[in-house]
Amino acid sequence: SRAEPLDFIRAIVEEDLRRGTYGGRVVTRFPPEPNGYLHIGHAKSICLNFGIAQEYGGVCHLRFDDTNPETEDMKYVEAIQRDVRWLGFDWGDKLFFASDYFEQLYDFAVQLIRAGKAYVDDLSEEEIREYRGTVNEPGRPSPYRDRSVEENLDLFARMRAGEFPDGARVLRAKIDMAHPNMKMRDPIMYRIRHARHYRRGNEWCIYPLYDWAHGQSDAIEGVTHSICTLEFENNRELYDWFLDNLGISPRPRQYEFARLNLDYTVMSKRKLLQLVEEGHVAGWDDPRMPTLAGMRRRGVTPEAIRTFCDRIGVARTNSRVDISLLEHCIRDDLNYRAPRVMCVLRPLKVVILNYPEDQVEELEASYWPHDVPKEGSRPVPFCRELYIEQDDFMEDPPKGFYRLAPGREVRLRYAYIIKCVDVVKDPETGQVVELHCTYDPDTRGGSTPDGRRVRGTIHWVSARHALPAEVRLYDRLFTVPNPDDAEEGKTFKDYLNPNSLRVLHGCRIEPSVANDPPDTRYQFERQGYFIADSVDSRPGALVFNRIVELRDTWAR
Ligand code: ATP
Ligand code: MG
Ligand code: MG
Repeated sequence: SRAEPLDFIRAIVEEDLRRGTYGGRVVTRFPPEPNGYLHIGHAKSICLNFGIAQEYGGVCHLRFDDTNPETEDMKYVEAIQRDVRWLGFDWGDKLFFASDYFEQLYDFAVQLIRAGKAYVDDLSEEEIREYRGTVNEPGRPSPYRDRSVEENLDLFARMRAGEFPDGARVLRAKIDMAHPNMKMRDPIMYRIRHARHYRRGNEWCIYPLYDWAHGQSDAIEGVTHSICTLEFENNRELYDWFLDNLGISPRPRQYEFARLNLDYTVMSKRKLLQLVEEGHVAGWDDPRMPTLAGMRRRGVTPEAIRTFCDRIGVARTNSRVDISLLEHCIRDDLNYRAPRVMCVLRPLKVVILNYPEDQVEELEASYWPHDVPKEGSRPVPFCRELYIEQDDFMEDPPKGFYRLAPGREVRLRYAYIIKCVDVVKDPETGQVVELHCTYDPDTRGGSTPDGRRVRGTIHWVSARHALPAEVRLYDRLFTVPNPDDAEEGKTFKDYLNPNSLRVLHGCRIEPSVANDPPDTRYQFERQGYFIADSVDSRPGALVFNRIVELRDTWAR
């Protein structure tokens, strides 16, 4: 017996394959508009469309849905291709642009005019809205609705030829002004826009609207399953009407699934563009952004994003996804991928009084904990001067604090047990600036031959060998789960988290990292997962991004 399909869309695909609806072909497409960068919501659609093609021996097209001259740009086309590839998908030679279909779409429109199924309307768009009526009240026909085929053909050709200014006329489908589905009340197919298109230049001054361009583009490419998000549910009837009235068969069909909404972020490209343009973030690839470019720079792996998309599944009801599920997938992936190293984020100097001034030891430190079945280690230098975290020392520790305190012992990971014998303070501020400690030479590697109990283990670096680093700690970009749902008089931007980025200067990291490939992801022991920033990090001036914290709050 066969495995159950994963979701309702795959069930439909399997049924079509069984019936031979498209002669055994499966063709999907991912149709981004090149007006911004891809985000994690797009990843859901990419994983679904390319995933289905892979699983059923089909192909998935990458089609730029570029029918809107005002906002589109080649730089977005390039960024989108980079991001789809990075996510792990390949469209082969199936790269398409809806703007290459303008001529064909024009011919299709002429075909509908000839059939008496489309007309040129001189009403303004505002009047058209008024005439359209409401859900409870039928619309009224435009006074231009019954123009002759000849007049419509002539006017449409002159629209294309540039005889009329923007907004003077539109082409509309002639369907039903009393249709219960508002989308069917003579929808607009073309607008006049004397605007330069990033690919077609000034060749066109009429541009097709989404509903007219999309289904016909699917048909031109031989797409079989056209998968989109639920907001387009009401557009499906129109999608079908156009294809049926053009007599295209067999024809693609549209299926809708729930879009991804993720807590503590926004996902509309328009809003993300505002964050970029108004400088709330450093760019589309700011590591706090939900864009694929931002997540890549943050250090998230494509595997983690694909796992996340699998985990959330594909359904027909809209919902919000808890961001901790994404963080869980990222951690799970990094746990097996990221070698452990030591980095001190807020250094406190430690001098080991009984360790010889000119001695340096190389201690072997495993890259992996016991529960990650991988091998490998690096030497970590140990000497008289070290750094530990400020937080790992308390002058007056509360009960339950097992790290360093005056007169107490702590274990240095991979090294020795040390004891704090003196605290040096800044005479003016009273701040602790240095600790004097002794080490127990019998405890190399952290064991205690005399059997005494030392509960705390802390990370550290050699002050003489450690490399200075800047570390960027990221938090959620917004303070509320749903910034789109702004209170009266506010916008999503009023909920930006002012502490979404904290920059730590003067951090110290063990010297082994100097030899690693620049895209190495690490676990800084006890701190989280990190990667060198691909834009700002330099060999002599390291900059690390925190990918995610260690703690996992996702309830399994
Ligand atoms: P935005 O609202 O962010 O501008 P869009 O839908 O206008 O998104 P497109 O570039 O047209 O952006 O999207 C390309 C494809 O990605 C579409 O098929 C769309 O359905 C899908 N998509 C966009 N956002 C999401 C999301 N949050 N979840 C799932 N799929 C999405
Ligand atoms: Mg869109
Ligand atoms: Mg949009």
